[in-house]
Amino acid sequence: MNPFIQIRRELHQIPEIGLQEFKTQAYLLEKINRLPQEHLTIKTWETAILVFVKGTVGEQTIGWRTDIDGLPITEQTGLPFASIHEGKMHACGHDLHMAIALGALSRFAEQPAENNILFFFQPAEENEAGGKLVYDAGMMDEWMPDAFYALHIQPSLPVGTIGTKIGTLFAGTNTVKIKFHGKSGHAAYPHESNDMIVAAAQLIMQAQTIVSRSVNPVEGAVITFGKLIAGTADNIITGSAELSGTIRTLTPEMNDLVEQRMREIVAGIEVSYQCKIDLSMEKKGYYPVVNSQEQTSAFITFMEAQPEVNYVDFPTAMTGEDFGYLLDKIPGTMFWLGVGCDYALHHEKISPDEAAIPFGIDQVEKWLRQQDVMPLRIFNP
Ligand SMILES: [Zn+2]
Ligand SMILES: [Zn+2]
Repeated sequence: MNPFIQIRRELHQIPEIGLQEFKTQAYLLEKINRLPQEHLTIKTWETAILVFVKGTVGEQTIGWRTDIDGLPITEQTGLPFASIHEGKMHACGHDLHMAIALGALSRFAEQPAENNILFFFQPAEENEAGGKLVYDAGMMDEWMPDAFYALHIQPSLPVGTIGTKIGTLFAGTNTVKIKFHGKSGHAAYPHESNDMIVAAAQLIMQAQTIVSRSVNPVEGAVITFGKLIAGTADNIITGSAELSGTIRTLTPEMNDLVEQRMREIVAGIEVSYQCKIDLSMEKKGYYPVVNSQEQTSAFITFMEAQPEVNYVDFPTAMTGEDFGYLLDKIPGTMFWLGVGCDYALHHEKISPDEAAIPFGIDQVEKWLRQQDVMPLRIFNP
């Protein structure tokens, strides 16, 4: 068996939730420490690992990012190498991402490129925007990449297929939490209380008009309230309610517009219903993933010319990815890697085709080496 498929299976058995990837980090470090060390410098921060591969020329640095966290899902694949961590699963393919990154790293450890390459094993993609945490902690400062690349597995594409697009590939996401403070009372005395179910219902309905009336219809946005908690009994007017949801937009500007409209509507509800409302909107590091023009058009041209690669243009998705935070700072590209399987990402039965691992390693290595022959000026316009 291909050693990196074996590595993927071993990682698949030990999924951990974001910022708790202790076993995963130890496993990865053990593999990295076994590589030729001559060109490597290794640094850790919490559960992150950064490996700098010194290039033979070393004028610029190219970043490759993999995420390493799993999800709080109970695996139902029935695979012999299924998760042994109860209630946790690598259901987003980050186990394959890690195996591919290790595979590519092992090749550059043997034979460095002209450029330096920074391999970034990133924690907490799913929950705490680990990419932002590591970047903001200054851990990349001495090795700051001139361009950054990453992939994500895609069940709907067969193995051998790579897809992406110039511009926004994933939406930015923003978590909204709203707390209403009114006055409880007897159901028969509404005039002596201040009903927060009515206020919350109004706010929910008014928020629907943001997308339908304030957002340019050809750009689009999503506002979904997935949770409303209010009340205790049929005959009690509730003085409190909690509402939470998500905002998804394709550009930072659209995010700002939706946030501003939310604040205005909340202020209006406070006045109309004489209540106090706490509003928090947090985007953490889940910025839109915006693929830069220069790097992405070069990537597409390169992949289209590879005989073993079936390149496809892939539409924007309203899902989120914290790689958007790094691409907000550094130009680069995120792309989909086909793993043809019947179940979607985050499904408890997802079982990606492992043939994508050796294929992915080859393509990542080729693309990172290709950076050596790309003109410097595209990174420093
Ligand atoms: Zn995911
Ligand atoms: Zn993922």
